[in-house]
Amino acid sequence: MTQPGNSRRKFMRAATAVAATAMVTPTQAATKAATSPRLSKTISVDVLVCGGGCAGTAAALAAARSGAQVLLVEKAPFAGGIITSVGLPYFDGIANIRDHRIVVRGIALELLSKSGVCAADAKTVAKHNPTIPNTFEFKLLLDRLLKEQQPRLQVLFNSLVCDVITQGTRIHEVCVANKDGIVRVQPKVVIDCTGDADVAAWSGAPFEQNAEVQPLTLHFRIGHVKKTPDLSQKCRAALAMAQQSGELPMYYGPGVMFLFGDDEIYVHGVRVPANPTDAADLSRAEMQGRADAHAMFRAWKQHVPGFENSYLLEAYPWIGVRESRRLIGQYVLKEEDLMQSRRFDDAIATGCWYLDLHPNKVTVGSANDFAPEKVQPEPYDIPYRSLLPQQIENLLVAGRCHSATRGAHASTRVTVTAMAMGEAAGVAAALSIDRKSSPQEIGGITVREQLARFGGGPFTEA
Ligand SMILES: Cc1cc2nc3c(=O)[nH]c(=O)nc-3n(C[C@H](O)[C@H](O)[C@H](O)COP(=O)(O)OP(=O)(O)OC[C@H]3O[C@@H](n4cnc5c(N)ncnc54)[C@H](O)[C@@H]3O)c2cc1C
Repeated sequence: MTQPGNSRRKFMRAATAVAATAMVTPTQAATKAATSPRLSKTISVDVLVCGGGCAGTAAALAAARSGAQVLLVEKAPFAGGIITSVGLPYFDGIANIRDHRIVVRGIALELLSKSGVCAADAKTVAKHNPTIPNTFEFKLLLDRLLKEQQPRLQVLFNSLVCDVITQGTRIHEVCVANKDGIVRVQPKVVIDCTGDADVAAWSGAPFEQNAEVQPLTLHFRIGHVKKTPDLSQKCRAALAMAQQSGELPMYYGPGVMFLFGDDEIYVHGVRVPANPTDAADLSRAEMQGRADAHAMFRAWKQHVPGFENSYLLEAYPWIGVRESRRLIGQYVLKEEDLMQSRRFDDAIATGCWYLDLHPNKVTVGSANDFAPEKVQPEPYDIPYRSLLPQQIENLLVAGRCHSATRGAHASTRVTVTAMAMGEAAGVAAALSIDRKSSPQEIGGITVREQLARFGGGPFTEA
């Protein structure tokens, strides 16, 4: 399914025109358009990073540390994406599952070590999937690192990228909606780290989205839970009863984990099928996620020993999206590439997570839809061309919306792999500004050499 960006823009303009004429007279509309403060602000910048999640924060830091003038635009009031807005503390993809050897260094390792999990020069980690101890402190850490780059790096939180205007093969302007109104940003290079490939799609670059994507999950925490033997099994049994009685339409697992404290559980078990790039369906999914989280809490409080004095602490603000649009870029990374650990001349990052595809329909069961066992690749290369779109020359796309098949994306979508791609995109964008070339002309080898100077880039034995 591909949608040309320009037709979407025409549709939006038509829709806006209809809404405007319904509320004001033509004269009023003309006066308003000429004087409206909503359209008055224009910002010119070297590098615009759209989305400040795992990939986007790394991209913005890398570009600014490389000397570019950077604007980071994020719809949440904080950076960190899935880690801070969905409350996911995992740094998956940092280490090889077999020997726990760290395969992603650079900004991902910096963030993990500054969160107190390992040394800055660690070669291995205790677990292949380490967790950070506190997601609020992670927000503070990102605030500090972003502020350290001021004035080269400016941040706009509570700001939604809402339109893209192209001229020929270039993005000329990106429109951002925030408390200033509609802000026009005129960047030399754009990095799309929205997870949903919003910028790529709206610029007319080819992309695809599966008709049925992985389900969405709201994470939540319950306080005052007593650890008892077989807690997970008892929780699962209570959810089966809740489902039978019609209180809970779907769930998985559940993952019931004492991650942050001895009497507090972090729960991943909500499973809501939805289309995350359809605003109405996403809104329905947010409500369903909350309802399901509360149904789970009620079931456990009523039926599971250990929950007698428990209380629902909080669900994180957003339901988490695992999969939506994927770029069809200059190279589409495939499952075979991962499973054969294919080497690419233009490798800029390393992935190592298993092919982690959550089934959309099934209730209980594995998170892995491929096979009864995990499909686990050895560390593999991610080529620079999988960050480069077709047709648009001043755009890079990093994170879970980069160019990969659905199967390959099931592995490359994890947090640390997204950070590694973001860091590479940030370095590439800065090089492109410095050399007055397009990201495509810079090429993956130069990007990799530059990443190595900062201690990042793909895994090497040395
Ligand atoms: C429920 C769930 C559980 C997961 N479990 C794990 C796990 O255990 N381990 C693991 O490693 N990975 C896990 N993942 C996958 C992983 O967390 C994400 O795929 C990864 O964070 C991708 O990074 P990203 O930067 O591409 O996206 P994100 O981290 O989601 O960042 C995208 C950012 O862009 C912002 N944004 C989006 N659209 C706009 C816009 N139009 N304007 C401005 N800002 C915008 C968002 O607010 C967000 O901050 C999970 C994902 C989900 C949803």
